[in-house]
Amino acid sequence: MTRGQVPARPVVTRFAPSPTGRLHLGHAYSAIRAHDFARAGGGAFLLRIEDIDGTRSRPEHVDAILADLRWLGLDWDGEVVFQSRRLDRYAAALDALKARGLVYPCFCTRADVAREIAESAFAPHAGPDGPIYPGTCRALAPDVREARIKAKPHAWRLDVEAAVARVVADNHGVRPPLTWHDEFAGTVAADPAAHGDVVLARKDAPASYHLAVALDDAAQGVTDVVRGVDLFPATDIHRLLQALFGLPTPEYHHHGLLTGPGGERLAKRHGAPTLESLRLAGEDGRALADRLRGGELPVGFVRTSD
Ligand code: GLU
Repeated sequence: MTRGQVPARPVVTRFAPSPTGRLHLGHAYSAIRAHDFARAGGGAFLLRIEDIDGTRSRPEHVDAILADLRWLGLDWDGEVVFQSRRLDRYAAALDALKARGLVYPCFCTRADVAREIAESAFAPHAGPDGPIYPGTCRALAPDVREARIKAKPHAWRLDVEAAVARVVADNHGVRPPLTWHDEFAGTVAADPAAHGDVVLARKDAPASYHLAVALDDAAQGVTDVVRGVDLFPATDIHRLLQALFGLPTPEYHHHGLLTGPGGERLAKRHGAPTLESLRLAGEDGRALADRLRGGELPVGFVRTSD
């Protein structure tokens, strides 16, 4: 499929906000793109609330998200899916990876990781999403690991190197092309090792974003992932998880972001208006959505290219 074309196949997209705050214009833009991409070909647009982080997710943010989307004139198909109600599926998937020896418990705190990196000659230190885990707990002796599991809170990390080796072994020793396709970037060769051993289950949350999103996109039959380009690098990990679980790989459409004039992210931009504040101030949401569709941005906003 070439850029900008409507695919001649059934399309299912989704908008998957985390209810850790109110939505802003960047979210509106992303939701509109996912919605319109599906609707252009008569496809389905799903809404998934990514509320696995019980400490930061709030029910009042969920209510505001639903009201904001309706205000923008975006209607979704079927029931809203809440990740917090699917924890048993994530746990089962994690158990399957434990049984295959592809994850290991990690007892490190953020401070431990930072110290370890500072003290080691290990390079490179930075991956696409921050510091690369130096692998401290990967090397723990089995008896130490067992004793600590009982005594200390721990996360579970994917042993990325072992996982890639397993995908190769499952493919009769042939290294399969771990590629994925993006409407704007073309074919991408996944480099999951660039992320290091990512966390799949956190100390304080039973699944990480990576695990939940890879499983849910497949479970919901999502054919096309339309999301901001900030999540482009994470797709390499999702691609590896798809290969490990035998899940289909959707088509990706990582779009440009709305930013402030200096390229700063909206969430961090002081005073960026929330959709709720615009809605409560009496703005017409459908008209705003149409302006965003037409590329007309409020004063002080720019859009990075797709
Ligand atoms: N929940 C993620 C977020 O709000 C988006 C997940 C995705 O689109 O893959 O940033």
